[in-house]
This record gives sequence, C-alpha cells and structure tokens, in this order.
Amino acid sequence: MESIPITLVRKKVKNARIVVKNSTTVELIVPLRYSQLNVDYLVESKREWILKALSKVKLRENAVQLQQNERFIRGKIYIIHERLIDTPFIDYEQARLYGRMNHFEGEGFVRILKKEAKLFLSKRLLELADEFGFRINKIQIRSQSSRWGSCSSEKNISLNWKLFLVPPFVCDYVLLHELVHTEHLNHSQNFWNRLSEVCPYVTQSHQWQKQFGRAVLQLHT
Ligand SMILES: [Zn+2]
Repeated sequence: MESIPITLVRKKVKNARIVVKNSTTVELIVPLRYSQLNVDYLVESKREWILKALSKVKLRENAVQLQQNERFIRGKIYIIHERLIDTPFIDYEQARLYGRMNHFEGEGFVRILKKEAKLFLSKRLLELADEFGFRINKIQIRSQSSRWGSCSSEKNISLNWKLFLVPPFVCDYVLLHELVHTEHLNHSQNFWNRLSEVCPYVTQSHQWQKQFGRAVLQLHT
C-alpha cells in the first residue's frame, strides 16, 4: 500500500479535516482529544481521496512553469524576442525565438516545432544507429499523448515529436531505447544490458521522465 506523508496536528478545532499542503505534507488537523483510533479510521476511509489529491499536487509541482514569453525546447527555456518579421526563427545557441508573438502560439507554433522535430529527430536517430551499428527500416514522427516512441518487429521506429522538447540526454535515451528494440523486442535483461552498453543515462533519464515526462507530454495539447 502506498504510504501517505501524514502530519498530525492537534488543535482547538471542532471537526477533523485533511489539508494536502504539497506532495510531501498532508496535514491531518484534529480536535485536541481526538483518539488515535479515530485518526487511523479517518486516514483509512479517506485514503483514496488523499492519494488522488496528492497525485494532482505532484503533477502541478512537476509541471513546466512558463511565463508568457517563454517556451520549452530541448530541455531549455527559450525567450521570445518580438520582431515584426514574416518568418520566425529559432536561435538554438542563444535559446531565443524571433518573430511575432502569434508565431509562437497555438497550432502555428506546433507546426513549426513539429517541422523542426522531424528534421532533428530523424537525423539524430540515424546518427545513433550508425554509431552503434543498429539497422532500422522506417522512421515515423508522430503526435502521441502518452508515449515517447515505439519499435515494430519490422524495425520501424515511431518517435513522438515532443522528444524535441526534452533535454538532449533524455531524447538520446529514448532513441537508443527504441534502437535496442530492433535487436530485442522486449524488456528482458538482455535488452537492458544492451541498452546500458550504448546509453550512459538510463537511470537519469528514468528519473527525469518520472518527474517531468507527463508535464512535457501535456505541452501544446
Ligand atoms: Zn521499450
């Protein structure tokens, strides 16, 4: 059972209540003479509700918080510099976006990102395949809301365009993960052994994905 980080606070209050302060603190505020039995009962009966509230708070804490003039690309915050030009451009070195504000909003911006993502991800996948000797058939860049990539038995690799938004080490991890699937179509020990031979960031990538993955998958939806 998932443990709940409960802090018991006895106060001069009439009724017990539960306050989810953040992902590591849930306060249980109870009257001074509230018995331990009642405390246990309250926690047990509200367990589902507390866990739900906690996961919502966690999601909010991990969300990529952006200002109005900021966008998230390749794991970095890019600043929009407004210019009255017709064709926007991205300065990857300086992490800046030049163009009209509406270039960087809504579907228009998603189109720009997808186009860049397609070029970048295809090129990077081929580079990594070449470096480590993997053979692939087709590459597809797709919009998916829940997964980063997949590999079929025909060695066709699908990649989520949002891999263009995550830090380079996480992107490489996913690309290498799918490339290793061209040799092992499962998550067996052999798969993980082979992956750790070619990718030094397995643990860090898993940590990053756990913390920020969902937030990034939800960007531009
Ligand atoms: Zn896999």
